[in-house]
Amino acid sequence: MPLSYRELVQGLQRLGLPAGKPVIAHASLKSFGEVRGGAETLLGALLGVFPHLMMPTHTYQTMLIPEEGPADNAIQYGSGRDQNAMAVFFTPDLPADPLMGILPEVLRKHPQAKRSTHPILSFAGVGVDETLTTQTLAEPLAPIRVLNEEEGWVLLLGVDHTVNTSIHYAEKLAGRRQFVRWALTPGGVVECPGFPGCSLGFEKAAPLLQAVTRETMIGTARVRALPLTEMTGLLVAALQEDPLAFLCDDPTCERCAATRQALARE
Ligand SMILES: [Zn+2]
Repeated sequence: MPLSYRELVQGLQRLGLPAGKPVIAHASLKSFGEVRGGAETLLGALLGVFPHLMMPTHTYQTMLIPEEGPADNAIQYGSGRDQNAMAVFFTPDLPADPLMGILPEVLRKHPQAKRSTHPILSFAGVGVDETLTTQTLAEPLAPIRVLNEEEGWVLLLGVDHTVNTSIHYAEKLAGRRQFVRWALTPGGVVECPGFPGCSLGFEKAAPLLQAVTRETMIGTARVRALPLTEMTGLLVAALQEDPLAFLCDDPTCERCAATRQALARE
């Protein structure tokens, strides 16, 4: 039997999140098995339970690699000539990168949705209009800062912490190295500072975060919810204790290598 709207709503309500708090969600539609009505039904259920809903709608297809730039930036300058030729301009209606899954794109197209304007790291949402306006080129993670201040929640719907964007905010607070990237816009190439590191090691934070994690199964999807303020506090403390925490184990990962090298120099 495919999952119904009602079963999705009941599953989300089982998490028992405090009413009215904003939520940043990351989702794999496929993880739920068959859903009657697909992504629109899942989004409808999410908005029915969480009327202040935000998701990342990042657009990596705008990125360029310049011929030169700042040192120790985890990038091979001059290596992007083929990629640069394929880069597209950021516009507010540029679809979210398919890497984000289908749901952010369905949210972005919702009639009540707004989207922030960062050419790589935009967010979209319903009922979070003011939060979205806080994002700037200098502070790409500002919407997550605001959700922290408002005691919002992270929702992982059939996905793990490797897509939990809010962990990047904790990294920034803990003083972890940030990078510079570049994006194509109708106004020219824009420098984007404050670009976060790699997230492939973030599931290593799951045991630490277990104490504040609420969990349920909805169909075949494992759904986890975490309160942002508590999550961020635990992560910052862990990063201060071990500045190498939550880096990935891929020896070819440029950003994790740059982070390790920066720490070794200190
Ligand atoms: Zn990495």
